[in-house]
Order: sequence, then C-alpha cells, then structure tokens
Amino acid sequence: MRDTEALVIGSGFGGAIAALRLGEAGVQTIVLERGRRWPVTEAHDTFATYDAPDGRAAWLSPVTVAPAQEGVPIDVYTGVLDRIKGAGIDVLAGAGVGGGSLVYNTVLYQPRRDLFARVFPSWLGYDEMDDVWYPKVRAAIGVSTMPADVLADEHYRGQRELLDEAAAAGMTARLFELGLDWDVIRAELAGDVPASLIAGQVWYGSNSGAKRSLDRTYLPRAEATGNVEVLPLHEVTDVRENGTGYVVAVNEIDDNGRVVARRDIHTRHLFLAAGSVATTRLLVRAREIGALPKLADAVGTRWGANGDLVIIRSGLPPTGPGEGGPAGAVLEDLDNPVAPIALACMPIPQAGMPEGFMGLIGMGLGPAKGSFAYDERTDTVNLTWPASDPGVTVIADGARATFERLGNGAIEAIDASLTGHPCGGVPIGLATDEYGRVNGYPGLYVVDGALIPGGSAACTNPALTIGALAERALATIVPDIVEG
Ligand SMILES: Cc1cc2nc3c(=O)[nH]c(=O)nc-3n(C[C@H](O)[C@H](O)[C@H](O)COP(=O)(O)OP(=O)(O)OC[C@H]3O[C@@H](n4cnc5c(N)ncnc54)[C@H](O)[C@@H]3O)c2cc1C
Repeated sequence: MRDTEALVIGSGFGGAIAALRLGEAGVQTIVLERGRRWPVTEAHDTFATYDAPDGRAAWLSPVTVAPAQEGVPIDVYTGVLDRIKGAGIDVLAGAGVGGGSLVYNTVLYQPRRDLFARVFPSWLGYDEMDDVWYPKVRAAIGVSTMPADVLADEHYRGQRELLDEAAAAGMTARLFELGLDWDVIRAELAGDVPASLIAGQVWYGSNSGAKRSLDRTYLPRAEATGNVEVLPLHEVTDVRENGTGYVVAVNEIDDNGRVVARRDIHTRHLFLAAGSVATTRLLVRAREIGALPKLADAVGTRWGANGDLVIIRSGLPPTGPGEGGPAGAVLEDLDNPVAPIALACMPIPQAGMPEGFMGLIGMGLGPAKGSFAYDERTDTVNLTWPASDPGVTVIADGARATFERLGNGAIEAIDASLTGHPCGGVPIGLATDEYGRVNGYPGLYVVDGALIPGGSAACTNPALTIGALAERALATIVPDIVEG
C-alpha cells in the first residue's frame, strides 16, 4: 500500500486549490483524477468539436451527452463531459485534469450580498468572502470582462443584444468577469488560430487555449512546489478509515476506461473534491456499507440544481446564436417579485438555431431538496430531485416574468431538467464544521461544490464561490496539518 501525507480526490476547483495550498506549505500530496490531461496542442486539435464529435466529447459513453447534441455514436473514451442521470434531473460535470474548468464557460461570478445570505448560514460572513476569498480566486485565475473591441465584433452580436434590450427596458445587465485570455480570443477573431470559442465551441473544451482553466493556473503552480503529484486516469472507488487515517481504493484506467491496475493508498489527511455528486456518492456509500459509519445523517442531503434553466428565445434582432462564446453579458433581475433570476446569453452552435434566436442559461435560488440514497441491491448511490416542487417551478415563472417585462421576442423553450451547476450533498455547517472538516472524522475534509448548503450559488454560476470556500477552508486546515 502506498502512503502519502495528504490525498486529494479530484482536480477541479476544490481539488486544484487544495493541491496548491498543501504543496506551498510543504505537505506531500497526491491528487487522484479519474480523467486525462488535456494539454492544448500547437495544432489546436486537443478537444472534440460539435462538427465532428468523437470519444473525447464524453466520459466513457457510447454516445454524445451534451445538450442539443445527444445520442451521436462515438467511441467509448475518457472524454471531458460526464452526464449523470438522477431521478428528476440530469447533471453535467467535467472530467479530466482541471475538472469543470475544462468544459466551463469561464464565468467567475460573485453573488450579491443579500442573496448570498439566503443560501449560506449567517456565520459565513459576506464581508470576509468579499474582502479575502473571492479576490484570492480571481487573482489566481486571472479574470476580466470582455474588452470593447471584442464586444464590438460581429461574433458577439448576441451578447450586445442582451445588453441593449435590458437597457431599453430599464433593467440591469452587465458584462461578466471571465477567466479568459482575450489575446487568444483576438487571435481567433483575426484568423491567426482556428475559431474555437468565438464559434461557440465551449463544452467539449477550447482548442484555441483561451480558457484559463485550472490545468493552466492553479495546478501547474501546485506541481511546481515539488510536493504535489497529480495522477490522471486514477478513479477512486472506495474510501474507508483505518486506525491511522484513511484508505482509498483506486482503479488505474486506460484511455478507454479499462482497469489496468488496482491499488490502495493510505493517508492521514483526505480531501474529497470529486465534485458535488461524486463526493456525495462516495461518502453516502461509505456510511451505508460501514466504511465510515459515523458520518452524519446530513451527508446525502441538501442537494440543489442551482436554480438552473436552459432557455431558447426567438424573434429577436440578429443574435448569431451559435457564436460569441464562451459567455459575455448577464441580465440581473435579482429583485424580480416572482423569483430572482440571472440570465446569461450563451452560444449553442450544436442546436442549429436560426438568426434571431438566443440561447440563455438562467440561474435562480434553487431549493436544497435533492437527496441521495444507497441501493444495496445494485451497490449504487442515486440522486432524487423533486422536479415538480413549487420551489423548483417558480424559477421558470420568474424567468417568464422577466421576459414579459423585456417585451421582446418569444420564448421557445424553458428547460429545468438539466444542470451543469450541481450544489450540495455534504452541506457545510451540518455534515462538516464551518471549514469543511467532516464531523466525526478528524483528517477527513470536503472542499468542493458538495459543501454549498442552500441548493444554489445564489443566482450565480458556482465555480467562484466553490473556489472561495476552498481557499477559506485550506487557510485554516493547512496550518493545523503543518503543526501536526
Ligand atoms: C458545460 C459546463 C459549463 C459550466 N460553466 C460554468 C461557468 O461558466 N462558471 C461557473 O462558475 N461554473 C460553470 N460550470 C460549473 C463548474 O464547472 C462547477 O461548478 C465546478 O467545476 C465544480 O467544482 P468542484 O471542485 O466541485 O468539482 P469539479 O470541477 O467537477 O471537479 C471534480 C473532479 O473530480 C474528478 N472525479 C470525479 N469522481 C472521481 C473519482 N471517483 N476519482 C477520481 N476523480 C474523480 C472529476 O473528473 C473532476 O475532474 C459549468 C459546468 C459545465 C458542465
């Protein structure tokens, strides 16, 4: 059995931040990541595209799983986008070194103070997050809003349209902060590198290299400390305690998902950062099979879909609905009397929408009413979501009310059956203490999206908040580890 001082499961926002802060403090750390590394090549052909999807587009699936491009046969491969089926909801998640940052729209969006207070316990002060932890993540990734020259380009007419129609209706809209290299976007626009994000190629990864994903920010810094080893294609199947810490069972897999070796790794300090669903599943199973029997009943509860909606509108002026990615503008109707909502314009080229259509993602205050249960018969942990609960359906009502006030175009579809923003399952302050230290288990920590306790990141995309919570947790946990 191999031994390491600290072990991190997953290399997304929580995992990458844990790796860097542990490595900087001199703690010998292994990061186990189920997916591959995805270095952007000089030929700009690292990732699959919507035009000709292949195995790289999905995690160990015989068909594609992206919204509006489902069911296309592909080879079974350790691709970047995973789709997890729950009862009442499907969840999209990234897979690979860098986790969700490989497939994300690069939006790093801070919630408004009053809405934050509706999702998080009162002991988690907004001032502290605002002063210290949100800025820390923004600085490490490097964020900026879309420069005027890019916004003025023909590819971005949809983002301009959202800003213009909000202004005309007297509503608030602004540019997001994105973790993006605008010079690479400019190179795409100039034709110096193949069009990728500007052509809406977002969710299978970006071949231009414009995304400042975690494998290009936090993780290389962690590895450069000399104390952190990232092991791709290592999938954790099991977590248990032994007398001196924790034992993690891991399958080493090949690019097609076949198991090539199995091993156990022992550690005194185990950080779960496999993402909201995967982390919760590992812990619920461990509790139910008696591997971590003292885990609180709160583990496997308070999960939410971030109030997510996928929306298609039509009848608008020219929008270029397949272009202008990865994101740009957001309309904030946060005082909407039906339900607060943020609406962001996003390209969906694979939907083949005609000019004048617009794809949007809506984000509300989701209820934390999802839960996980262990099925002994199949040895699986299953997610259940109450899709028809009024707390869920009111979010689409809120969006409809916003569009009515905008007074433009028509709504073609509002879909709440899918989220790319899973939140919760191991709620902070209930299943863990206020720093993600798991109740009843010294040396066991949760540092990813599973911690979010209120079902959403308060009308925002959650990655920035997940990162800020991880930075906050590590700043307290790491000194304790170092002092022994
Ligand atoms: C298409 C898409 C677009 C998105 N766009 C945005 C956006 O613009 N802004 C935003 O804020 N959020 C966005 N999100 C959501 C964002 O990606 C997540 O909120 C964020 O990545 C969650 O961070 P995390 O640390 O909880 O887990 P993740 O980033 O999901 O990382 C978990 C990691 O653990 C690995 N893993 C899972 N199980 C195991 C296992 N058993 N063994 C080993 N490794 C494992 C996974 O492969 C993954 O790399 C998007 C998500 C999707 C799917």
